[in-house]
Order: sequence, then C-alpha cells, then structure tokens
Amino acid sequence: MHQIIEEKMRIDIITLLPELLRSPFEASIMKRAIDKGLVEVHFHNLRDYSTNRQKSVDDYPFGGGAGMVMTIQPIDDCITHLKSQREYDEIIYMSPDGETLNQKMANKMSMYENIIILCGHYKGVDQRVRDHFITKEISIGDYVLSGGELGALVLSDALIRLIPGVLSDETSALTDSFQDNLLSGPIYTRPADYKGWKVPEVLTSGHAAKIDKWREDAAYEHTKNRRPDLLEGQ
Ligand code: SAH
Repeated sequence: MHQIIEEKMRIDIITLLPELLRSPFEASIMKRAIDKGLVEVHFHNLRDYSTNRQKSVDDYPFGGGAGMVMTIQPIDDCITHLKSQREYDEIIYMSPDGETLNQKMANKMSMYENIIILCGHYKGVDQRVRDHFITKEISIGDYVLSGGELGALVLSDALIRLIPGVLSDETSALTDSFQDNLLSGPIYTRPADYKGWKVPEVLTSGHAAKIDKWREDAAYEHTKNRRPDLLEGQ
C-alpha cells in the first residue's frame, strides 16, 4: 500500500496588530490553501500574554535614546506556550538586518511543518529575545517598515503558494521567476492582434517544441537584460 504523505503547514504569527494580518488570508490563494486544509494560520496577540497590569508590551531602552523596545516577558510566555504544544522547525523574527528573503529560502521553508513568525514594532525587540528564542531572522528587503506584519504576510504568501496542491496547476510555481535562476519571460493572451500589436507568431503556431525553445530563449534574454547577476555561476 502506498502511503500518501500530505504536506500541511502551521504558521503561528505573534503580533501586536492581528487586525493588520487578517484580510490577506481571507482572499485568493492563501484563503484557498486554508480552505483546502493545506495550511493553518494562527494569530497571537502579544498583549494577551502581558502579565503587566497595564498590559504593556514595550518599555524605554536602557541607556536612553529614541524609541521604545518590545519587552521579553510577553514574547517568552507566548513562544513557551506554543513550544509546549508542538515542535517548531523555525522561530522567525522579521527584521531588516536579517537574511534577505529569496526564492531559494522560500522553497526550503515551504517544506516545514510548523513555524512561528514574530513581528516586531517600535525599535524592535529586546536583544535577549533574539539571543534565546529566535532561530532565524528574515528581512524582506533593504528598507525599514514600521512593523513586522507586512513582512510576515510576504513570507507567508511566498511559502504557502509552494505547498503542493495549493496552486491548481501543479507546475505553475515551477515556471515562475527565480526558479532555475531565471526570470519569467513575456506572456500573451487573446486577442492575437490588438490594434495591430501582434503576439510573436511562434506562440500561435501550435508547434510545441518551437514554443518551448522560444520561451526558454526569451526567459534567458530577459534575465540577461534585467538581472545578469542571476546567470553568474550557471
Ligand atoms: N530599529 C530597527 C527597525 C525597527 S522597525 C532597525 O533599525 O533595524 C520595526 C519592526 O518592523 C522590526 O522589529 C521588524 O519586525 C519590522 N521590519 C522593519 N523593516 C523590516 C524589513 N525590511 N523586513 C522585515 N521586517 C521588517
């Protein structure tokens, strides 16, 4: 008997602003993945874990200076609670000084079962959170956001669409940009002639081998023009 191994991912997002996260998971591909039971996403409001009377989650930085720092206690309690229930492949902190997210990382992480994503705010989290709980730090690019939520959404989307069964056409993620270190080439749909702007003839020729070759060459040309760095070391 064959055993069907179904990949399923659980993402726990720790945040001060769960309302920022909701709607992207309620539309399109991420919603479909959740509806199909291929991914579970849970939000944890840090304020619920604060033992402080005012439910505060931040404090002034030691040594002075501008901005507030997220305190360790609520984060510790939330992560410790989650870790007592299951094992996590990675406990991620979204941070501009982390490893910049790319497709290779997304491919690898899409095979994980359980991940935690911690969203920072203010000046970020107390360094001891990073030293003692975080196993991976990820940036979504060299610019600074006001909170980790948008980064957590970018990361979640990039991972979820790679889980087998999420995209209706199984091969479609494989032909996207960055797979095989190539950018996606130009694409066309009907009409074949719009105001005299015609699609390349080969695409309407019905000749599969020629079409494949044209696409390959076009993707290579496009990559050479836009991102020659991707072709280096190929
Ligand atoms: N003081 C920090 C920036 C804090 S911004 C610094 O200079 O490095 C507040 C929070 O937004 C961060 O804790 C992080 O969770 C999130 N964030 C900001 N920019 C980000 C980026 N490029 N990628 C991922 N998360 C980011």
